[in-house]
Amino acid sequence: MSILIKNAFLVFEDRVEKGDLLTKDNQIAQVGGCIEAPADRIIEAEGCYVFPGFIDTHTHFDLEVGNTVTADNFPSGTKAALAGGTTTILDFATQERGMTLMDAFHKWQKKAQGSSCNYGFHMAVSEWNQERIAEIPLMIENGITSFKMYMVYDNMRLSDGVIYQAIQYLQDEDCIIGVHCENDDILQARVRELKAQGKTSPRYHAISRPNLIEADGVGRLMDAANLAKGPAWVVHLSTKEGLDIARRARERGQEVYLESCPQYLVLEESNYDEPDAAKYVMSPPLRSKADQEALLRAMAAGEIDWIGTDHCSFTMAQKAAGERDFSKTPNGGAGVQNRAELVYTRGVKGGYFDMVAMGQLMSTRAAKLFGMYPQKGTLQVGSDADLVIFDPHCPHEIHAATNLHNCDNSPYEGFLAEGKTRDVILNGELAVENGAVAITGKGQYICRRRCGRYRK
Ligand SMILES: [Zn+2]
Repeated sequence: MSILIKNAFLVFEDRVEKGDLLTKDNQIAQVGGCIEAPADRIIEAEGCYVFPGFIDTHTHFDLEVGNTVTADNFPSGTKAALAGGTTTILDFATQERGMTLMDAFHKWQKKAQGSSCNYGFHMAVSEWNQERIAEIPLMIENGITSFKMYMVYDNMRLSDGVIYQAIQYLQDEDCIIGVHCENDDILQARVRELKAQGKTSPRYHAISRPNLIEADGVGRLMDAANLAKGPAWVVHLSTKEGLDIARRARERGQEVYLESCPQYLVLEESNYDEPDAAKYVMSPPLRSKADQEALLRAMAAGEIDWIGTDHCSFTMAQKAAGERDFSKTPNGGAGVQNRAELVYTRGVKGGYFDMVAMGQLMSTRAAKLFGMYPQKGTLQVGSDADLVIFDPHCPHEIHAATNLHNCDNSPYEGFLAEGKTRDVILNGELAVENGAVAITGKGQYICRRRCGRYRK
């Protein structure tokens, strides 16, 4: 199969250039200038931008949380991802206590069968001991070179000492740990305090976890990484205070990678006053306009490395578990399909950054750090033919009903997006045509290499 894209704005790593792009089988065969070659398909892309396929670094599909399971599994979640221009997701395989890392890996491989975009896994670990450490080489062999640790959630929480030891161990292997940074002790005390005062509605979820709760966690991670002389990766950074702490760590020479999410750019704490506010219950919670502004400026300055969605969807019926107690609401929201249009509308159309920066945030840096570059994340001859044709002039509203997520709500309901993913080429085939998913179930597992630590 060969596809010739004509007259597009090609988004390279450092510039945008008008030209053509030819794929052959699963590779970019030629890029730039005017290409006159025979092809099975010719796509006219005048006025549209061609990006390397977007990479979502943070999804939770088919995840059991307490006694409920996320609304999206891999088939539905990856189909929605693909429709939005995401050709690769990195999901968090989760090692529950008592389980081996290999058990978790096999469990997630099984869940991911039938995926419609390419996929890889980070391994979320809930224990760090000799047995688990002994499995790390096996993880690396199987393409898992990034891990996650939580400072919160009783079933996953690990101590600062463990995080320190794990960073120390894994950095020698060029592996990295993403950390969910929050101060669990204080936030739990605040939850008890609010409940005792009868304050149980969704808005108190945000009040229980103010900015300093995150900033404290970021600070402890920076210190642990500093002492361990290894890299730090903050997942879903949401606050200006956390950002400032990470900046100071970089100023003293630390290797710090920062991820943020669309919800912290377009939603805010006042959303908790809406009638269906349970859909905004996620951790970290929604923040203020000032936080949005700080994150967007940090993206423009290249300080935030990439944007993942933290897609973790629950139906309103599932969310109702917290009707009388916000702390019982399953945390998370659906966003995997909407990332590109949200980032484009808020970041690019909003005047914060350009298409080159968008390509870096949506694809290139994630491909580099997570061991997929230059196969992914760049428009180079020989790179994989995972491509997005994005139409910058396509105003439309986001609605749960028209999203492909298997979820009856969207935190972005009614949001007016200015642009839209039009076509997607996945593994050399035209998988989304004019916004409609044409090919499903063709996602492949990506056996990733060690981390490309570009800030080392
Ligand atoms: Zn998450």
